Amino acid sequence: MPPPNILPKFKLAVSGRYNGAVKYDQNLFQLNRGQLDLFLKTSQLHLLTSQMPYFSRFFVPLLLLASFCSSNPIQDTFYQCLSLNNTYSLTDDQLSNIFFTPNNTAFTPLLNSTAQNLRCIASYAAKPELIFTPLHETHIQTAVICAKKLGIQLRFRSGGHDYEGISYTTVMDLPYVVIDLAKLRGIDVNVEDGSVWVEAGATVGELYYRVAEKSKTHGIAAGLCTSLGVGGHITGGAYGSMMRKYGLGADNALDAKIIDANGRILDRKAMGEDVFWAIRGGGGGSYGVIVSWKLKLVVVPETVTVFNVEKTLEQGATKILYKWQQVAEKLDENLFIRVLIRPSNIANSTERTISTTYNALFLGDVNTLEEIMKQSFPELGLTKDDCFEMSWLESILFIAGYPRTIPTSVLLAGKPAFLNYFKAKSDFVTTPIPEEGLEGIWKRFLEEEQPLMIWNPYGGMMAKIPEASIPFPHRNGTLFKIQYVNSWMNPEKQVMNKHVDWIRKLYNYMTQYVSKFPRQAYVNYRDLDIGMNNNDFKNDFVKAASSWGTRYFKNNFNRLVKIKTEFDPDNFFKHEQIIPVLPFKTNVQRFKHLHKRKGR
Ligand SMILES: Cc1cc2nc3c(=O)[nH]c(=O)nc-3n(C[C@H](O)[C@H](O)[C@H](O)COP(=O)(O)OP(=O)(O)OC[C@H]3O[C@@H](n4cnc5c(N)ncnc54)[C@H](O)[C@@H]3O)c2cc1C
Repeated sequence: MPPPNILPKFKLAVSGRYNGAVKYDQNLFQLNRGQLDLFLKTSQLHLLTSQMPYFSRFFVPLLLLASFCSSNPIQDTFYQCLSLNNTYSLTDDQLSNIFFTPNNTAFTPLLNSTAQNLRCIASYAAKPELIFTPLHETHIQTAVICAKKLGIQLRFRSGGHDYEGISYTTVMDLPYVVIDLAKLRGIDVNVEDGSVWVEAGATVGELYYRVAEKSKTHGIAAGLCTSLGVGGHITGGAYGSMMRKYGLGADNALDAKIIDANGRILDRKAMGEDVFWAIRGGGGGSYGVIVSWKLKLVVVPETVTVFNVEKTLEQGATKILYKWQQVAEKLDENLFIRVLIRPSNIANSTERTISTTYNALFLGDVNTLEEIMKQSFPELGLTKDDCFEMSWLESILFIAGYPRTIPTSVLLAGKPAFLNYFKAKSDFVTTPIPEEGLEGIWKRFLEEEQPLMIWNPYGGMMAKIPEASIPFPHRNGTLFKIQYVNSWMNPEKQVMNKHVDWIRKLYNYMTQYVSKFPRQAYVNYRDLDIGMNNNDFKNDFVKAASSWGTRYFKNNFNRLVKIKTEFDPDNFFKHEQIIPVLPFKTNVQRFKHLHKRKGR
């Protein structure tokens, strides 16, 4: 017989006809593994179920409980809760195929599958208690409801490109569960109404491919790297080679579906304009789980033109780059010329130099481009031989650095072109960096192994959109954005420390040349050096307001905090740089709650 304290709870849990709603006795989760096993073995449950068919949907989850056994309380309680809340017809096989603990041989390959930064899956990086890979939006709802009830911290991963890996690791020293959305990657293109619905786990490469498949004259304004996950990418802004013409991915978002802290699925109308504003640039993970985005299709010509032109120090790179800083933001808005800067070897020698590569997309033909370049930036010396005309989809591969022989269907693989250990940072520049400033950068670059900077031009549409239009505030007056990346391939921790130290020193050196009060940063280039939360309501708000919050969002930070306080008052969604809730509001709500419970 089951222990006497268990049976009444079980009866309570199953009493009442199962009606498809979330229904269970929370006390049941207080049973430990041994108690449940004992109960399932000794009870006459099979008789009960044969007599009462409507118990079958409840009974299957209980069998699942019996089939899953670990000594980890988070894994156990979460699994139990998912099983008991299994209102969406998950079969036993499905549940065991979407719930992975470290004991499962598939766990590490799955954890690593989309982790873009090897630093964040190295031996020294924290690992989740388990990974849950939903097949349907309702599975995410169940996971959120269970995590909230059980007080488990969730992390959400779409494409795994977070620079600090906070979608799958943490430095907050708290156990956590990863909800990996990679299996949710549906794309529904509607050329007639000029939009596409895309699920969070799809990559931008797949999205571009599916849009181009339907129309040769439509595209999407979003990132340059083809393996970015739509879920995390769009919510942090999402710039790409059409930003000067059409703005960011987030500027072109028309609707979204989000799951809030109560497990409700809300579209734009249901979440309201404040929340819809906040998720378009406010950074991943703060307000809920984005299930899908509706994005605007933008018009592209059937033929676009691209080029790569490299200039080394010996070819006058410093002066040309100084000129680029003055013109790139003023160029025709159909033209996007970014610059990739890294050390390289002088031809036929072991001596190192600095190489600057001008990597460009022009939304037009080569003749028009040639005219524009002659007028605006002759110093680069662009010739027709440097240029290639192609479709917009082919230009995606060119800009992302793929060889020209690769077919566009490679985009459907949804895989990154390379992986390494890296640390990255960002800056915005509002006045050109003088030549002696550039020379200071070259000196530092030549002392390091594999540093990289990417300078992205602003202006055009980016300057026309008001700063408060969405949370992304880096608009008029920005000449360009700098992305600093230092990468390495050695897994040792001391090697990481050395390279991270180098990039921090470079960042210090750059202080004098970049935006000030605040020194701005791009939230999609997450950088925990500029501040992080510590799971402490009051101080988190104050710290964020004076550090990363205003650097990423300037004055928009206050509105983001207000919206977070209203929408997720219990601060259920958390990570190192979550938008904090207002400390006094939280206390007021807690006070009200207590008041109510005491019946006053
Ligand atoms: C190689 C590389 C190239 C890049 N190129 C560009 C570029 O061209 N343009 C650009 O703008 N940015 C670029 N980025 C930055 C990129 O936009 C961000 O890292 C973005 O957050 C990645 O989204 P993701 O879904 O791939 O990442 P993830 O690591 O899965 O998520 C990133 C963040 O979003 C949250 N999140 C993920 N999914 C969801 C969801 N469904 N709902 C709510 N929150 C979620 C996570 O919790 C995390 O905080 C690049 C990054 C890398 C590593």
